[in-house]
Amino acid sequence: MGSKAYKFRIYPNNEQSAFLAKCFGCSRFVYNYFLRVTTDIYAESKKSLRYKEWAKLLVNLKSEFEWLKEVNSQSLQQTLKDLESAFTRFFKKLGGFPNFKKRSHRQSFRVPQYFSIDENGFLRLPKMTPIKMVIHRKILGTPKNVTISKTPSGKYYASIVTEQDIPHAPLNGDKIGLDLGVKEFVITSTGEKFENPRYFQRSLRRLKIRQKRLSRKQKGSNNRNKALLTVAKIHEKVANQRQDYQHKISLKLTCKNQAISVESLNIKGMVKNRKLAKQISDVAWGNFLTMLEYKGDIYGCEIHYVDRFFPSSKRCSNCGYIKEDLTLSIREWQCPECQIIWDTDVNAAINLMLFSQVKIPLEEGKFTPDQLVVRLGMNRDTGSGQEALSKA
Ligand SMILES: [Zn+2]
Repeated sequence: MGSKAYKFRIYPNNEQSAFLAKCFGCSRFVYNYFLRVTTDIYAESKKSLRYKEWAKLLVNLKSEFEWLKEVNSQSLQQTLKDLESAFTRFFKKLGGFPNFKKRSHRQSFRVPQYFSIDENGFLRLPKMTPIKMVIHRKILGTPKNVTISKTPSGKYYASIVTEQDIPHAPLNGDKIGLDLGVKEFVITSTGEKFENPRYFQRSLRRLKIRQKRLSRKQKGSNNRNKALLTVAKIHEKVANQRQDYQHKISLKLTCKNQAISVESLNIKGMVKNRKLAKQISDVAWGNFLTMLEYKGDIYGCEIHYVDRFFPSSKRCSNCGYIKEDLTLSIREWQCPECQIIWDTDVNAAINLMLFSQVKIPLEEGKFTPDQLVVRLGMNRDTGSGQEALSKA
């Protein structure tokens, strides 16, 4: 069994839009409220609250803020589950610390039960009249939940997740490593390269012009609202292009392989480097890794994360030689020990693949980065790093 999402545009009428605004607002309020409470309590007492405690507190919150009762209570619980997964991702180092949700960003809430699509193709949600929906492809499988969202430019969508039997990837034992880059978006250990289309950089000029015009408009004026909408639309287009591109690559990779290993990223740390920041946010690696993970679940492909301190670029994946003087600008180098000429990125991807096959525990604290370099460096004969590490 696997799950699949179907995204359709919905067209709520005025009354429905007003109610949806309430749902988005309540969901955002609950998310931000518990993010705040959890952070505060942790700062004071080092006690970390989770879904169980939040759900209990939510009952009290609803008697304090009566308007929370107007919306579907299951959706509020789902919001807490989202907050929990945001924390889980943070603790697994797969994402940054959860952010407060903003009114100006994409809005959403999820309905886990009691929704349906009627004979006219309208979407029925709890506490609401049926909403017009445009179904452009057949929905297969059993619907499990639906997420309603609104983009900053004012479009509404319903994303319906269904559960269905999906054939798994052929059991060919194919494993690959992926190196993520800025010049090329993804480089695989088999030497395949996917370019980085830099959608954001490309729209930057247009965006700058629009933002300049926006800054000249008077606050609260109609013209300003129009200008705001234009800017939001450019952002949305960039996000959609990027999303489509990443969907295609992640689908291709998870369908064809049984295991993918990739370096765990410290995206936040990298984005702090201002020179790289713009390029990196444009690449949106974190988003890509999320896609790999859920598509991996669907197609039976395991995603391994390799510790980011592992010297994947500096190590010759053939003999284990460590090239200490490798810099970011070196795209190609020859190993002095085994004479192989490496494309730096492909070599890194091969190392990531090898390292996940070796299955060495790499929890933090087990080996310091320096120890790891020494251990791998000691083992130039076998090329795998396995023996040197297992002796430890
Ligand atoms: Zn070598």
